Amino acid sequence: MSMVPQQRLLRTEIPGPRSLELHVRKSAAVSAGVGTTLPVYIERAGGGILVDVDGNQLIDFGSGIAVTSVGNAAPRIVEAVRQQVGDFTHTCFMVTPYEEYLAVCEALNEVTPGTHEKRSALFNSGSEAVENAIKIARHATGRTAVIAFDHAYHGRTNLTMALTAKSMPYKHGFGPFAGDIYRVPMAYPYRWPTGPDRCAEEAFAAFVEQVHAQVGETNVAAVIVEPIQGEGGFIVPAPGFLRAVAEWCREHGIVFIADEIQSGFCRTGDWFASTHEGVVPDLITTAKGIAGGLPLAAVTGRAELMDAVHGGGLGGTYGGNPVACAAALAAIETMRADDLAGAAKRIESIMVSRLQAMAAKYDVIGDVRGRGAMIAVELVQGGGSTQPNSALTAQISAACHREGLVTLTAGTFGNVLRFLPPLVIGEDLLNEGIDIIEGVVARLA
Ligand SMILES: *Cc1c(COP(=O)(O)O)cnc(C)c1O
Repeated sequence: MSMVPQQRLLRTEIPGPRSLELHVRKSAAVSAGVGTTLPVYIERAGGGILVDVDGNQLIDFGSGIAVTSVGNAAPRIVEAVRQQVGDFTHTCFMVTPYEEYLAVCEALNEVTPGTHEKRSALFNSGSEAVENAIKIARHATGRTAVIAFDHAYHGRTNLTMALTAKSMPYKHGFGPFAGDIYRVPMAYPYRWPTGPDRCAEEAFAAFVEQVHAQVGETNVAAVIVEPIQGEGGFIVPAPGFLRAVAEWCREHGIVFIADEIQSGFCRTGDWFASTHEGVVPDLITTAKGIAGGLPLAAVTGRAELMDAVHGGGLGGTYGGNPVACAAALAAIETMRADDLAGAAKRIESIMVSRLQAMAAKYDVIGDVRGRGAMIAVELVQGGGSTQPNSALTAQISAACHREGLVTLTAGTFGNVLRFLPPLVIGEDLLNEGIDIIEGVVARLA
């Protein structure tokens, strides 16, 4: 565990005076397009705590958006990065390669679902990994159409904006978008018109019909889906839906891409969320939790697809940077040695039972869902109405922030509170964070 005391501590209002000062500098120096959820400026972090510049210690239920799953400044990662940064920082793998890149690819080929022959390629960001997965699928199939889902989030570059569903803030005013991308319904149990029981079957039928009528199976290179949707509101597809889609893809020679950038690396209580859905993706994109906070991303998949691309067709100056690779190897070792998948399951059992008890008491909590340490509540108007309640969601989140708990929101309708604690968070801090949520909900509901 890190040297950061594992205790919540409020010395000032949140944000404190020093953070407010820095925030004035931000407005003068940083593009207004780069927003911040909670303008407390962080000085140190570790375990489940973020320490800000005013000396406040906040409980972290965000992990920098599912990135610091192993904790901030995790000891093995600090050591590996120190060592690597002293040896060399960059050569460009495409010019003169190095072993660390190979070791990360070998590890990815091993921990991702399926025992088939695999290859990987490394990039810098999740968006870049998604772009490359689409490039590979198009090249390997000789087809161009791509199918994405309602509520999907795949990034902010031009191609990935086109795949992302939500307009504001991700796409608004940034078009035109990349072409030949089609959107189909997601099997979203809570909001399925005929109810959750028929959701998987009906959503799959709609998927098949729409792709057939509007795109044509033989034109489709890939279907891309998050096994648990992240920014879209931690939507867990109705059981059986993903497997049906994956099998249908296989029948039609279509590449099934699982975007596990948010759900991967032990976050959902397994190495990857696809496993729980009984799905072996053809290609899988990873980033976020892969390297304990250093920028790294990957595409891993069937050797015959990954090797279909001509030499020099994939790459990038920084992709698979040696320092990021060293961090990834240490993060993967930490997940194995410390059984962080098991830790995610323990977080789930505590969070879900407590949040379900709250849902039984407060009818503004319409749904509690997620898996592992990727848990959310969907807030509604209540009193029999399941209309989204984005105003209450924003109020609850802001109130949690004032009490020193970092929470994030999500959802196409902005009405989902999502919780992504570091997998190494202590049980006391976890329960204290939930106490804060419970107090705030009791006050505001
Ligand atoms: C965050 C995210 C991305 C984009 O990753 P960046 O590193 O921000 O480019 C893509 N897909 C999913 C599912 C994500 O959660």
